[in-house]
Amino acid sequence: MWVKVLGRTFIQPRYTLYRSIKTIAPRVRFAPSPTGYLHLGGLRTALYNYLYTKSRRGVFILRIEDTDQARKVDGSVEGLINDLEWAGIECDEGPGRGGIYGPYVQSERLNVYQEHIKKLLDNGSAYRCFCTERRLNILRRDAVKHQRLPKYDNKCCSLSKEDIDAKMKAGIAYCVRFKLSSDCMSFEDMIFGGIAYDVSRVEGDPVLMKSDGYPTYHFANVVDDHLMQVTHVLRGVEWQISTTKHLLIYKAFGWSPPQFGHLPLVVNSDGTKLSKRQSDVKVEDYRSKGIYPLALVNYITLSGGGFDHVVGEGVRLKTMEELASEFQIQKISSHPSRLNPDLLEECNRLEIKRHLKDDKLTKALICEVQRLVAQKYPKETLNISEEHIKSVLEWSTSRISRINDLISPKLSFLWILPSNKLDINRKLFEKLVNDLEGLQKFEHDTIKDNLRSFSDKNDVKFPVLMKMLRSALSGLNEGPSVAEMMQLLGKCQSLERIKAVLR
Ligand code: GLU
Repeated sequence: MWVKVLGRTFIQPRYTLYRSIKTIAPRVRFAPSPTGYLHLGGLRTALYNYLYTKSRRGVFILRIEDTDQARKVDGSVEGLINDLEWAGIECDEGPGRGGIYGPYVQSERLNVYQEHIKKLLDNGSAYRCFCTERRLNILRRDAVKHQRLPKYDNKCCSLSKEDIDAKMKAGIAYCVRFKLSSDCMSFEDMIFGGIAYDVSRVEGDPVLMKSDGYPTYHFANVVDDHLMQVTHVLRGVEWQISTTKHLLIYKAFGWSPPQFGHLPLVVNSDGTKLSKRQSDVKVEDYRSKGIYPLALVNYITLSGGGFDHVVGEGVRLKTMEELASEFQIQKISSHPSRLNPDLLEECNRLEIKRHLKDDKLTKALICEVQRLVAQKYPKETLNISEEHIKSVLEWSTSRISRINDLISPKLSFLWILPSNKLDINRKLFEKLVNDLEGLQKFEHDTIKDNLRSFSDKNDVKFPVLMKMLRSALSGLNEGPSVAEMMQLLGKCQSLERIKAVLR
């Protein structure tokens, strides 16, 4: 059978070697490198691991892969943990959490890797390489010049024991490389199906242990997945190309590998790559812009697949428990997951609605609005009573998707007095005040009917009257309808504002 792997076609052997048969509860891990913030793709990986294991009463491990010390960014581990917790993803084992397979930070496990590299050196699967950076650079440049694939020529693989001993005695720095065999390894990807790849065709023997005593990603990843008894590896598709190399390392140790599933790329709605320059890549940005965790999590599952559900009018968000019980890994498509930002707004709107159905959550929402309003209008705030905010919130669910929208200039009239000088027909306005004062039910429909008959009776065009009123009430040229504004402001405040233009 022929299979396609990242654009290349290979023959897949009839039998998949080293396929693990595990019936026990899964142990999965999210293994980020602390090189910055948690981005949407990372959150999707963490989430799908979490959902997969939660529905099977398994264990979710957080492992920090910080073997590339040069790329480590201070504070990013704390940031990652924070963002995961915010999203509702709690780890069962991990840094700060403990667990019997720890430590869970790779830089704290260097002795483990030393011990294991020795095993591969002893059984002949790995060798010491004394090549200098200069020689490797020359090899690379030469390959580029002759339009060949740059790969290490495996020179040190054939060093004699005497050569090695002499170089070590002389204190020459070395790294440890893995002896790649030309086996075409294959595996059954939980998402992509059969994958086969012969790494040795495109790579020289890869480094497992660097000369500074730190392992490379590939080595540490395999050793830790094995020692931490990981049963399923769900990770981004960018790692799929490395999996057959990992399988060779498992084989060299004589270990049986976990099952692998690679999640497709998360892309923009037009199929383009998410870019760090676009603001909506960082989970932290979604948080600070008023997106709720459950909304973000549902949004990810909508584009990422793995479910039957849809979101739309009248549909509610799924809780984490529901998502876990409904998650079906076989439903994830291998095509890139396209984000649809409209769905994010819809999810967030649904989350605001859910908050408003629960007293405790409504109270928290009100406090949040009070804080935002006080921050935005520190001096001039007019009315931030709980009652006012609650009615504003109820009105707003069909119009806004983020609480921050309530303090946008368009809705400033809700919180502060307009500061505009109006050229109005005084007589007409005095009459209008009188008319409105007599209105018993100060609600949208009655206000609207009343204004319409007022305009008829007084021979003033309805749109002209509305324009004047809108300006008196809000100082704006556009926004919600005048009747809506009045209902939101209440009788007293509406009349107050209309009277103010008469003074
Ligand atoms: N440290 C890798 C990353 O940051 C983990 C890849 C894997 O899950 O094996 O993506």
